[in-house]
Amino acid sequence: MPFDVLSFIAAKRDGMEHPPGEIEGFVFGLLSGEVADYQASAWLMAAFLRGLSMGEVRALTEALARSGRALDLSSLGRRAVDKHSTGGVGDKATLVVVPTVASLGVPVAKLSGRGLDFTGGTADKLESIPGFRVSLSAEELLKQLSRIGCCMASHSSDLAPAEALLYHLRDVTATVPSIPLIASSIVSKKLAAGASAFVFDVKWGEGAFMADLEGARSLARVLVSLSRELGREAVAVLSRMDRPLGRAVGNALEVVEALELLRGEGPGDLRELCLELGGWMAFLGGVCGSPEEGKVLCEEAIRSGRALKKMAQLIEAQGGDPKVVENPRSILEGLEAFELRSEEEGYLSAIRARRVGLAVRALGGGRVRKEDPIDLQVGLVLEASVGDRVERGDPLARVFYRDGASLQRALELLDGAFVVSPEAVEVPPVVTEVVG
Ligand code: URA
Repeated sequence: MPFDVLSFIAAKRDGMEHPPGEIEGFVFGLLSGEVADYQASAWLMAAFLRGLSMGEVRALTEALARSGRALDLSSLGRRAVDKHSTGGVGDKATLVVVPTVASLGVPVAKLSGRGLDFTGGTADKLESIPGFRVSLSAEELLKQLSRIGCCMASHSSDLAPAEALLYHLRDVTATVPSIPLIASSIVSKKLAAGASAFVFDVKWGEGAFMADLEGARSLARVLVSLSRELGREAVAVLSRMDRPLGRAVGNALEVVEALELLRGEGPGDLRELCLELGGWMAFLGGVCGSPEEGKVLCEEAIRSGRALKKMAQLIEAQGGDPKVVENPRSILEGLEAFELRSEEEGYLSAIRARRVGLAVRALGGGRVRKEDPIDLQVGLVLEASVGDRVERGDPLARVFYRDGASLQRALELLDGAFVVSPEAVEVPPVVTEVVG
């Protein structure tokens, strides 16, 4: 019997629970073209508003993972570990953590998404390295993994292709910030990539899809219990996203900052988060006895240059020039920069991450329609951090732009993004707690 998409949409619109087989019919109908984009979008909005039960989330996750091939990593002879962030502004941790953990001998097959709403995506960021290919077949991924122990790829026609279709639709239909949809999106990609253990970075704050800590805890619990139900080990690190992570926001600019961190430079908050995530990955990968020991191993991998060397191997294996790691700034085109200056004096008490993300999208660094091309070079670099003393006229950020009209739109969004207060403020650590 053909899949009855209209009844399927109407059932969720009316708050009913789908039996598992129906969810599978929807996912495979989307893949075959039997379900149109606009019908999937209508269902997404109904699911966003009505929610999904844990049984529905599991059925959706499994169907999305099964929409393509799943990598079988058993031949690697080691426990593979994966990480995933729920999305934030300036979040380039994957670019640091994957090569660092792989350099310790833990295989990491990372499937990443593209930019989502006002947040950036690792797949887009990597494409700012000339020649870098993020779309790899299952065979290519497996070959690379057994040769160098890591890869970073996007969904492809081989791996979780239906998740890629839903992901793009959610991006442009205001249906991203939903716990069931985020959890199934993330865990389905992790299942397809074949790792035995997952480390989730669940962000909270105005630059994340979960604005408050309670929401982030709920998402973390769903991610961890869904993964465990599906036979994987999992932990979730909760981290703050009320300010951008690090200083760079924008695709190529973030790659530069990540490479600088791998060179032992780079901002403290990014480093702290990468060591926490890397420490857990090393522990779950079985190369040390605790996440604390894992952190020390990751620190040493960065200090010794082994993590950077692994990144160079990964870039070369995926078509880029490995020399980029020696001179990260070579990937920047040197766009015009506008210096945003403080109009007040006092202490920088907040940098509103969401506005920064929206400003970078307005510069052309993110999508509004799913077919939109993006400008990988635009973005901004923060010149001051939360907690800093600033005087009137001090630089707050350098905004890299392609044309005056987009700069204007970005500056309007940045109006009020930097909050200056008369009193000094305490800067809380980026990592808040660990769930699971
Ligand atoms: N990252 C994903 O892969 N999916 C989401 O829905 C959010 C963040």
